[in-house]
Amino acid sequence: MGEIPDSHPRKASLLARAKLTEAAAEGLLAQSAMIAHGRGEAFDYLLGEKTSESASQAIREVAARLLNAERAVISLNGNTTVLAGEQAIRAAAIIGCPVEVNIYYRTPERMRKLITTLEEIRQKVANEDPPSGWDASQWSDSVNSTEILGADADGRIKGLEGPRAICSSRGIEVADAVLVPLEDGDRCEALVGLGKQVLVIDLNPLSRTARMAHVTIVDEVTRAMTELCIALSEKTQVSSWDNDQALRDALAIMAQASEQI
Ligand code: ATP
Ligand code: MG
Repeated sequence: MGEIPDSHPRKASLLARAKLTEAAAEGLLAQSAMIAHGRGEAFDYLLGEKTSESASQAIREVAARLLNAERAVISLNGNTTVLAGEQAIRAAAIIGCPVEVNIYYRTPERMRKLITTLEEIRQKVANEDPPSGWDASQWSDSVNSTEILGADADGRIKGLEGPRAICSSRGIEVADAVLVPLEDGDRCEALVGLGKQVLVIDLNPLSRTARMAHVTIVDEVTRAMTELCIALSEKTQVSSWDNDQALRDALAIMAQASEQI
């Protein structure tokens, strides 16, 4: 996809599609992954494909809550690994928390492939320029010691049945704050029911996930995770967050799209 000029208005969207198509061919994604992505794209179009001020506030709130948690974890599914795996590893290294591969349609083969992909990403991120406030060796140590959980499958999300309940006993099971981009509504509800802080990224402000989470970032996962890494380096405070207001803000932006015509 190197031939798309930077000025192309659909460049980011085309690149995301190319990444997902390639990942699907490699067996990293469930068949429903493209459908989920397409639904997200439609909402992003209405948002103007940019991070709103309201979403930026949600990102800062999520950063504060992750840094404030006793045991945070970043849960990654196939789409998030492909679209924002690098940002997730960076965020985890800054926070000092694990990432956990946790997929809805779980197969040993996809789990293995996603974990291998993240291990490769971790190696690449460890050799990158460090974020502000880190020196190079401190940064590579922190990245290299970021755990990639999920293979162990020895934990359970209480309140769910069957393979959907499987998680890591050192990750989601014991976490007090979980960042779950693109989570399913049932699992989000179960995590909330367990008393965990549930922080999500979802372009659909009306999904059950968006409405049930404690903090919902209504934004595209690559943009949101990139901005989260910046927000994690700034010192922000946890607030009493009004999530319904954040969802109304996103819906108001989408409604205003009619003014373009
Ligand atoms: P729920 O289970 O929460 O009610 P759903 O069943 O409608 O939601 P799922 O298929 O479970 O939806 O999850 C896909 C969700 O991920 C959709 O809400 C979609 O808007 C969102 N999504 C897809 N791609 C992205 C992306 N790149 N960035 C952010 N959100 C995305
Ligand atoms: Mg769902």
